[in-house]
Amino acid sequence: MWIKRSWNGGMNVMAAGVRTVFWSSSQARQALSSGWRAKTPRRPALKKPSNPGLKDPVGVYCRVRPLSRPDQECCIEVINETTVQIHPPDGYRIFRNGEYRETQYSFKEVFGTLVVQKELFDVVAKPLVEDLIRGKNGLLFTYGVTGSGKTHTMTGSPGDGGLLPRCLDMIFNSIGPFQAKRFVFKLDDKNGVDVQCEVDALLERQKREAMPVPKTPSGKRQIDPEFADMINVQDHCKVEEVDEDNVYSVFVSYIEIYNNYIYDLLEEAPFDPIKPKPPQSKILREDQNHNMYVTGCTEVEVKSTEEAFEVFWRGQKKRRIANTQLNRESSRSHSVFIIKLAQAPLDADGDNVLQEKEQIILSQLSLVDLAGSERTNRTKAEGNRLREAGNINQSLMTLRTCIEVLRENQMYGTNKMVPYRDSKLTHLFKNYFDGEGKVRMIVCVNPKAEDYEESLQVMRFAEMTQEVEVARPVDRPLCGLTPGRRFRNQAFREELSRKLEMRGGPINGEPEEQSVSEMFLQNFPPLPSCELLDVNDDQTLPKLIEVLEKRHKLRQMLSEEFAKNVLAFKTMLQEFDSSVVSKENYIQGKLSEKEKTIAGQKMELERLEKKIKTLEYKIEILEKTATIYEEDKRNLQQELESKSQKLQRQASDKRRLEARLQGMVAETTMKWEKECVSVLPSKQLEMQNKLWVKDEKLKQLKAIVTEPKNEKPERPSRERDREKPVQRSVSPSPVPNAPPVRLRHRRSRSAGERWVDHKPPSNLPTETVMQPHVPHAITVAAASEKALAKCDKYMLTHQELASDGEIETKLIKGDVFKTRGGGQAVQFTEIETLKQESPTGRKRRSSPSNPDPPEDAADSEWTDVETRCSVAVEMRAGSALGPGYQHHAQPNLYQMLM
Ligand code: ADP
Ligand code: MG
Repeated sequence: MWIKRSWNGGMNVMAAGVRTVFWSSSQARQALSSGWRAKTPRRPALKKPSNPGLKDPVGVYCRVRPLSRPDQECCIEVINETTVQIHPPDGYRIFRNGEYRETQYSFKEVFGTLVVQKELFDVVAKPLVEDLIRGKNGLLFTYGVTGSGKTHTMTGSPGDGGLLPRCLDMIFNSIGPFQAKRFVFKLDDKNGVDVQCEVDALLERQKREAMPVPKTPSGKRQIDPEFADMINVQDHCKVEEVDEDNVYSVFVSYIEIYNNYIYDLLEEAPFDPIKPKPPQSKILREDQNHNMYVTGCTEVEVKSTEEAFEVFWRGQKKRRIANTQLNRESSRSHSVFIIKLAQAPLDADGDNVLQEKEQIILSQLSLVDLAGSERTNRTKAEGNRLREAGNINQSLMTLRTCIEVLRENQMYGTNKMVPYRDSKLTHLFKNYFDGEGKVRMIVCVNPKAEDYEESLQVMRFAEMTQEVEVARPVDRPLCGLTPGRRFRNQAFREELSRKLEMRGGPINGEPEEQSVSEMFLQNFPPLPSCELLDVNDDQTLPKLIEVLEKRHKLRQMLSEEFAKNVLAFKTMLQEFDSSVVSKENYIQGKLSEKEKTIAGQKMELERLEKKIKTLEYKIEILEKTATIYEEDKRNLQQELESKSQKLQRQASDKRRLEARLQGMVAETTMKWEKECVSVLPSKQLEMQNKLWVKDEKLKQLKAIVTEPKNEKPERPSRERDREKPVQRSVSPSPVPNAPPVRLRHRRSRSAGERWVDHKPPSNLPTETVMQPHVPHAITVAAASEKALAKCDKYMLTHQELASDGEIETKLIKGDVFKTRGGGQAVQFTEIETLKQESPTGRKRRSSPSNPDPPEDAADSEWTDVETRCSVAVEMRAGSALGPGYQHHAQPNLYQMLM
């Protein structure tokens, strides 16, 4: 299974591919029609430049050369017209569960091993030549490791010319008939160009030819037969629609960049065989248009493909000699062949070049054969070689960095400085990337397995390069003169000579004109001698007269002929004038038509430009809004994150607290449980003791109760009260959870209630109509155990002094229970209060017969139920009454032990 790399970075599985690297365009087309196109990975959409119409990406093409031997292992396959696939060779394969990785790279076009030079030229270089002739700059370079076919692609092999000879051929095929005479254009030393008239050009030519060492190559030089074969391209490829009203001149220069030094390969330096001088390096400068140029570089004007190629060959030869002499490695140098094309319009007559410097257009096409891109260690270089190799690599590295930075700046809108100046190579081509021009790169790869790693690097760089965009060159303005000047005048001349021919002999060519006059002169009879030596000479004069008469006749004939010719010429001129006028009218009509269309198109253009501006403005606003929204989104997200973090923190705090509290609760519970467990036996013991004490007391009380007493109960209780104040105050308050009685001993009510009516003798008789009376009650003056044993209800009649001074009689009722120790207990449940009041509110004494009111008062104070009960309890068993006895008709559990 093969894995293909997709543009989104994911891995897709694809079917097994073609292993052999045989590819031609026809095969490609066939393959495409059979559905390969559908499998081509798509590139992700790049960020659109601000003015999309005016920028083009760098065109990157890939050429795969054939293997040197059929038995070599291959690691690159051409998948389709735009894609190559590279897979690790056997030694490199990274096994992953039985699969191994393959990578695909896409380019503008991929050329397989069967693609011929012409096909490559048509696709890659032809548009650059067309641009050159239209006055636009271009840069074409080949990139790849040594032996991948860069030189083969650029220069070609014997019998199979590469892009360079084909470019030259196409240029000269296109401008051939419109070339300017040599030296009409003159390049200056500041990368500019000047123009001079043909006479001056002729003089300069003569001057130069007279010089002892001619700097210009003469066409007679012999080209190396190896090279001669290369230019024999015979395609006759030419640019359509060359401006015929311009004149053109081609200049070539050839430089080499080695070890970050620039050398002029065309420099004619006198050669000293004894002490050969090392070549002088050149420096780079920037001209007024910010284009870089090599100062003092030889630029040779060439008039034909052969001549241009001869110059190239000369440079190539020099390069080879330098390499041998200085022991350099040729694959480590970059060679740059620069073709400059100067063009200027013809004047209005269409005969001579217009002498205006501003009208000259100078465009250039640079053809670069880069040094091998392989890493230093591959060539096993040492010492100087290694350092040089490092420098070469350094310049390629700078090229890579520049491309990377450019790409980043363009894609992400950053403004990082592009390090062009770090190497001569990038510095020289700075303006192609910064300024304008078409840039194309051919990536050459050798599919052999040994080159796998290097080829991967090459592919990666190439892929990145095609994401860089370069400003599209602008169209040059027209010169403003009427188009078609050259051929209109030529046509006029042709027509004139034709008509003259028709009317009796040519007048056009100089030799013919000469022969007519000569003919006349020859036909003129020579004048005889006019000397009269003898008086009788009668022959000389008549002969002279005869000759003169003949001459006169001939002269008359000539004048007649001349008049006739003049007439004919005049009529012809008139005819021509009229035809010119009609043609002019026709042309004017056409011209105005065209002007109208141009004006319409201009208006359309303006409208579109305006539209573009508004759209750009809108885009800008939208971009701004988008950034604002994005900012908001970011802020909100941040806020959200911080809040959720806070919430999480709080939740974890809560959890921690809960856990801690649970721990504490458990701990406390355990502690208390332990404490309870430890305290329980002692408490039980204590309670048992208390019970025992109570039992003891009860027994004592029983003993006391069973002994009848005559004394007032109040006195001794009061005395005891005074004697044992502590006992009274510490008398145990009723404890609800430890009842002294057993409720199960309570008698059933259904058996009929029997009351003990306890009326202490200290009570005063009241005069009230309503008197408490309980039927069948056992009335006792003091608490009697016997009576209690017979009854199940108990009532104590108790008197006290109310706040208004009246006697208040309280009937304290209770239930009688048997105690655990065999005694009786009373549980008070209700209090009935009986009170007599005067309607006038006047104080009335409850007993006027009472002899000692203060004592009464004291008694009444003493008869306070609490005191009485406590006295009773102390008297009997030390039990006590709680405060609840004061509540009327309220069931109460406070008990009085008897
Ligand atoms: P480079 O310049 O990259 O070091 P060359 O162009 O010198 O490589 O190529 C090395 C050899 O491979 C040369 O002999 C050349 O003829 C041959 N070669 C390269 N490309 C091709 C090709 N496409 N077809 C046939 N031969 C090729
Ligand atoms: Mg080479």
